[in-house]
Amino acid sequence: MATEVKTELKPWYKTKLPPGKVYQLETDLDKLWDGLEDVGIGPRYIGEIRKGYWHAELGGPKHNYKSFLYAEVVNDPNEIVDGRVEVIGPELDEIPPETSLPFSLHAKLWGPELTEDHEEFAARGMFMGLMFMEGVGMIGARDTIWTRISKEVAPRLSFKKLSQSIRASVLTSAPIVEAVEVKWVLGTPEIGGVKTIESILEETKPKWEALMAKHAAIADEDVDLFYGCTLCKMIAPNHACIITPAIVPYCGVLSFYTCKAIHAIDPHGYIFELPKGETIDPIAGRFTGVDDAIYERSDHRHKIFHLHSSIKYVTTN
Ligand code: SF4
Repeated sequence: MATEVKTELKPWYKTKLPPGKVYQLETDLDKLWDGLEDVGIGPRYIGEIRKGYWHAELGGPKHNYKSFLYAEVVNDPNEIVDGRVEVIGPELDEIPPETSLPFSLHAKLWGPELTEDHEEFAARGMFMGLMFMEGVGMIGARDTIWTRISKEVAPRLSFKKLSQSIRASVLTSAPIVEAVEVKWVLGTPEIGGVKTIESILEETKPKWEALMAKHAAIADEDVDLFYGCTLCKMIAPNHACIITPAIVPYCGVLSFYTCKAIHAIDPHGYIFELPKGETIDPIAGRFTGVDDAIYERSDHRHKIFHLHSSIKYVTTN
């Protein structure tokens, strides 16, 4: 069971922040989910929380999308404390019903084989740790994140529990991660509201923008191999996405380099390699490799796919 501890580490941001509540989660891998038995967890709980039904809303348009969720890989294991959670701001039960706040949710991750190319993969683990929880609705990614926590589940939830689910989900879905530390900052008026969150966002953004620049530096013409993803078959059985250097999928949480990193970890998982094959139509983006791979993975329903067209022969991306 998670316990509250008092420890101070090097600040993560230059932006001045008050000390938060600090919890130390159980780090025994056999007890990853212990204590979460009173909250449903799984894909069946993916959903939206409508107006009037939410206890707390974090991020989103009311705060001009100045919130963020970020998974950051660190190179030095001494930079983080596995299982440490810090909540700067009120706990969930201290927030009045129907309160909307800007926020940041930042996890630092370490593993001997972990690189920056795994950051999006780990962010997906964070995302699933929240989105799969009963009564938690999420849309967006990184600095477009928008989350709601329902009134029904709020009495059984806390930021500590949400963090435990995030950590467990990351460690389960990405076993090369060995340490996870989580920090929440709730942008209450007492700590400066959206301005404070915006200031943290500006400090953090250059790190992921550098990664995006690396991704933008290659083009489809530079590679012979694309990647595909079949994860959403669990909710859409004929669905598969194609990910190329220029094309991100529908969910927006995968890139070419991320797929490459995931496939290297789990070659028999939901990410598959896809030789590009012959180029049939470079303008529409038709390749024999894509046609063949998606035909096989779309229950033999469709034979032709155009990567660059949303009018004719669209992919399921
Ligand atoms: S890439 Fe496509 S199949 Fe994979 S998770 Fe995203 S939307 Fe679903």
